[in-house]
Formats: sequence, C-alpha cells, structure tokens
Amino acid sequence: MSARPTLLMLVPPHWAGFWMPWLGAAPLDVVVHGRDAYRAQDVDYALSFRPEPGLLKTLPNLKTVFSLGAGVDGFFADPEFPKAVPLVRFIDPQLSTEMAQYVVMHVLVQHRLAREFAVAQSESRWAQRVLPRKTADTRIGILGLGEIGTVAGERLRDLGFAVSGWSQTRKSVRGVESYAGDGEFASFLSVSDYLICLLPLTAKTRGILNADTFAKLPEGAYVINVARGGHVVESDLVAAIDSGHLSGATLDVFQTEPLPKESPFWLHPKVIVTPHIAAISDPKLAAAFVIDGIARAERGERHPNTVEIERGY
Ligand code: NAP
Repeated sequence: MSARPTLLMLVPPHWAGFWMPWLGAAPLDVVVHGRDAYRAQDVDYALSFRPEPGLLKTLPNLKTVFSLGAGVDGFFADPEFPKAVPLVRFIDPQLSTEMAQYVVMHVLVQHRLAREFAVAQSESRWAQRVLPRKTADTRIGILGLGEIGTVAGERLRDLGFAVSGWSQTRKSVRGVESYAGDGEFASFLSVSDYLICLLPLTAKTRGILNADTFAKLPEGAYVINVARGGHVVESDLVAAIDSGHLSGATLDVFQTEPLPKESPFWLHPKVIVTPHIAAISDPKLAAAFVIDGIARAERGERHPNTVEIERGY
C-alpha cells in the first residue's frame, strides 16, 4: 500500500491533461475518474467542479474535497454530497482580477455606448455625439460583496463610479456603500443603475434576478450576471428588457449551458452573451492550491477556504 495520498480527479478526462504537468510532480498518486482504475477505499482527496451525483459518497476514506472553481453549487447539486467531509474552494487573486476585468469591461461598453458606435461604424455613419451619463452620477450595485465582488467594486470605484454592494453581513470597503440583509435589499436596488450579480447560488439566492427585483431597479438599469444562470428567471429578464424598463443585459451564465440555440438571448439586440468565460481557474495556480491544501490536511489543519456547508457557500 502506498504512503502517498491518493488524489482522485473527478473532471472530464480531457481536462486532466491540463493539470498533470503541475500535479504530476507532487508526492501524490493522481487518478482520473473515467480514465484510470482505482479502489474507492484508497482515495484520500478529490477535486472537482460538478461531481457526478452520488459518487463522492462512495469514497469511505475521503479527507477533503477541493472545488476547482470559486462557486460550489455544483457540489450541492449532488443530493448525496457527504457533508461531513470538508469542502475547500479555490480563491485566487488572479481569478478575482479577471472577473473584475470582465465586469469593468461590460460596464464600460454600456456606459460609453460602445455598441451604438459599432453599429454606426458598420453603417459608415458618423453617429450623433451623445454624451454618456456622468460617471460620478452612475450608480453601480454589486450583489455579493465577497472575494470577487469586492475586487470588482474597488476597480469600478477607482474609475469614478458610485458603487454599492449588498451582502449578508455589513462590509467596510473604502468608497463602497454597504447594504446588508433582506431588509436593505430594496434600498440597494433603488440605487443600482447597473446591477452586477456576484452571489453564490444557494437556496436563498436562486431566482433572485426576477420580475420583482427588476421592478425595483431604476428605469433604464442594466444587468450583468457573472455568477450562475440559476440566479436569473430568464423569461422575466427578457420581459423587463422588452418593456423598456431595463436597457439590457450582459450574461455569462445561463440556466442551461451551453445556451440552447432557441434561446431569445442569442439574437436579442440589447443582450450580450458570453460562454461562461468571465474567468477560468488557472490549472497551474489551482494545482499549487490543491497540493498546499493536501499538505495542510495531512498536518491536521482546517483550511481557511473551507465552505460552510449549512450556509451553502
Ligand atoms: P464569496 O466570497 O462567497 O462571496 C459571496 C458574497 O455573497 C458574500 O459577500 C456574501 O455575503 C453574499 N451573499 C451570499 N448569500 C447572500 C444572501 N442570501 N443575501 C445577501 N448576500 C449574500 O464568493 P466569490 O468567491 O466572490 O464568488 C461569487 C460567485 O462568482 C461564485 O459563487 C460563482 O458562482 C461565481 N463565479 C463565476 C465565474 C464565471 O466564470 N462566470 C468564475 C468564478 C466565480 P457575506 O459576505 O455577508 O457572507
């Protein structure tokens, strides 16, 4: 029997190739589900993003599960997820920076009327010179002032926008107004000309971007969802845009991915669609994170990124 811990990769087998250059050198036995033979009782650690339901509970000696992504809803989608096993999620400054880049880019595309000018250029038309709304008067609301929401809020604040954030608990981020809890949700929405969703997907946040929420936003508000498709009631979003109440949306995530051909979002002139690429975990950094996490677990330490199972994120 090997003294080296065994790490099971529960990912599409072709992903394993991205990781092996970084994991292969570590003092671990790495096995890939669906590619390698292994015995369930030998598995000490697992890494995944959306494990096959029921599989983790068949591993009797599992010490820690690592999430490849910041979001852990894929694990809770497994009704038999072994809740006694610590679940540790990947938090990384580079990932937060790239998420913030995406958010800033899409705020600026809308704020600086980039799509209108692109259409005008495609028609060889010198567009009427319309001034964008003043930046300091443009209010941005970030749903979820956590690891990523905080970085996005700071970047937008530094560009001169008036930024607020909504979270469960009160935050203190310089130049960012903090709204906390359900009791302050409506006030937060009323000052959000841009509503940016960076919440985790939990029982409480599923469907939070719905007709009631949109109705509480200022006329002409713009929605950016970079969290999870399950946050949006998609038919409500289309209706709010088509009614003119919302000016449009940028969507990176969807109820069904890949986005079905028949989705109204594809051809909607006021919607920007991207294929869940706001940020992608870097295998080199994520492998180093997992190797370090295993070393901590072997020393009996509780990892600081351990998910609070009851809270759901
Ligand atoms: P995080 O650090 O856990 O932050 C979550 C924030 O949401 C926290 O501020 C939390 O409040 C708040 N929150 C949670 N439930 C709430 C509720 N019911 N009411 C009010 N506030 C609530 O998460 P993160 O690392 O920033 O990641 C956010 C999400 O981004 C992930 O869950 C994932 O879905 C998504 N993501 C997407 C991509 C992509 O490529 N599209 C990539 C990475 C991540 P407290 O701080 O008070 O607890």
